[in-house]
Amino acid sequence: MNPACIEVVEGDRPLLLAQPHVGTWLPPELEARLTATGRARTDTDWQLDRLYADLLAGATVVRARFSRYLIDVNRPPDDRCLYPGLETTGLCPTTDFDGRALYLPGREPDAAECRERLERYWRPYHAALEEQLARLRRRYDHVLLYDCHSIRSRIPRLFAGRLPDLNLGANDRRSAHPALIATAEGVLAEAEAAGYTWVTDGRFKGGYTTRHYGRPETGVSALQMELAQATYMREEPPWSWFEARAARLRPLLARLLAALLETLERRVIGDQS
Ligand SMILES: [Zn+2]
Repeated sequence: MNPACIEVVEGDRPLLLAQPHVGTWLPPELEARLTATGRARTDTDWQLDRLYADLLAGATVVRARFSRYLIDVNRPPDDRCLYPGLETTGLCPTTDFDGRALYLPGREPDAAECRERLERYWRPYHAALEEQLARLRRRYDHVLLYDCHSIRSRIPRLFAGRLPDLNLGANDRRSAHPALIATAEGVLAEAEAAGYTWVTDGRFKGGYTTRHYGRPETGVSALQMELAQATYMREEPPWSWFEARAARLRPLLARLLAALLETLERRVIGDQS
């Protein structure tokens, strides 16, 4: 366990923001084994913590500080493929989204090293998520895990064309209470009037976290929001923040979170279950 690698902010509302891919930390000895591509950490969910900062008072935040190139906490521990038949990256990825090598020749991790990363980084992250969800569940009948992500809008190896701006993932509508999905889609439909594009369960249906924790019948719903990075930042180095775009997007995300919280706290969900 390396406690500095996982950041937890405890809030008192029934909504948890998970940020698995904002981290950039890599152990120095690992970084020395990477190509320039690996060291660039291109597939980071850049500046997502800044994008969501202070959007919802009282939200709990669980954030991984290490890079997904060390281990991807949004992949299952057995590394089974989340999207059979489609290209994806694995638990301890050896290529970036474009298929370029992250490691110098012969320096990739072996199975034992992947197992060690699983114990040292992946399990503590999920232990933190479980602990926080359990803490909130002691207080509320129903809680929501909102998994925050962002990705380049064009990655030909992973999907055709341009990704919609806002990609809601609900594991084929199974990971969240229908009232929460309806709430999110209502806000996204409003966003469409403002020029944003969106989809539910399109290319991204939710990763391991959404699928594993999102079991509404147990009082825990989960939704993934995969944002096209172009909605707030430059999609190439140096990954600059676009203030005007972010200034439009942040109020939309704040409305989305506030609407989800209202649905949770109106106890409509708790009364029904
Ligand atoms: Zn992500």
